[in-house]
Amino acid sequence: MVHIKSEREIDRLRASADLVGRALGEVARHIRPGVTTAELDAIAEDYLRTHNGRPAFKGYRVGNLPPFPGTLCVSVNDVVVHGIPGPYVLQEGDLLSVDCGVELDGYYGDYAYTFAVGSISEEKAALCRVTYEALLEGVARAVHGHRVGDISAAVQDYCESRGYGVVRDLVGHGIGRKLHEDPQVPNFGRRGTGRKLKEGMTLCIEPMINQRTPEVVTDPDGWTVRTADGLPSAHYEHMVVVRRGQPEVLSTFAYIEEHIEAPYTAEAQVSHG
Ligand code: MG
Ligand code: MG
Repeated sequence: MVHIKSEREIDRLRASADLVGRALGEVARHIRPGVTTAELDAIAEDYLRTHNGRPAFKGYRVGNLPPFPGTLCVSVNDVVVHGIPGPYVLQEGDLLSVDCGVELDGYYGDYAYTFAVGSISEEKAALCRVTYEALLEGVARAVHGHRVGDISAAVQDYCESRGYGVVRDLVGHGIGRKLHEDPQVPNFGRRGTGRKLKEGMTLCIEPMINQRTPEVVTDPDGWTVRTADGLPSAHYEHMVVVRRGQPEVLSTFAYIEEHIEAPYTAEAQVSHG
């Protein structure tokens, strides 16, 4: 069931998104070669808790898996998503996706950014740019009267036409009083299909894009999802309110991009589709 949010609820989600953004900004300040992913995780957890947030991923359960141990999902190079923070020391040239979730006053925030650690290869930079642009393409379709498949097809077409692999096994989602709500928002699909979008739906749109194969494998830890071919993957995520005429993006990368040399234009440039 899809829950249409009131403006009061959207205000709460806006506050949750803002807290995630500021936590990601703190993380961004500390990303450099020599830092461990566990250190970044501790920074994010401290920040969220200091601001009355509860880390939403920590203790998250899926089936019989052990609960997720981190505040962040930290996914390096060929890890697509759900990497567990730990002793890994970031290296010059790594691609690092950081996903952060919070619950604040009963409402969830959840979004992600892929960082370059030091300077990265042309190939990795291009992968990031295409994934980021695909996110904006998807976001632009989150308009009243469109369908979920319009978002999905926009992301898929943008990436596949450029030779990249679109992950099928993991999808975006609704968000609200739960971290994952209906509808599912796949990054692949057909225009004009799927659930109709209505004003007040709140969606996490999150392309997970691989340099080549769309296939993924999961590590024995049950969480860490990697590309099947070992090539890099990128992941960006926004929280969006479906509106009439133009979507409203609740999340912002501004807190992040003030600390890094962002190779992309900020999210203001959401085109209409
Ligand atoms: Mg999400
Ligand atoms: Mg996320």
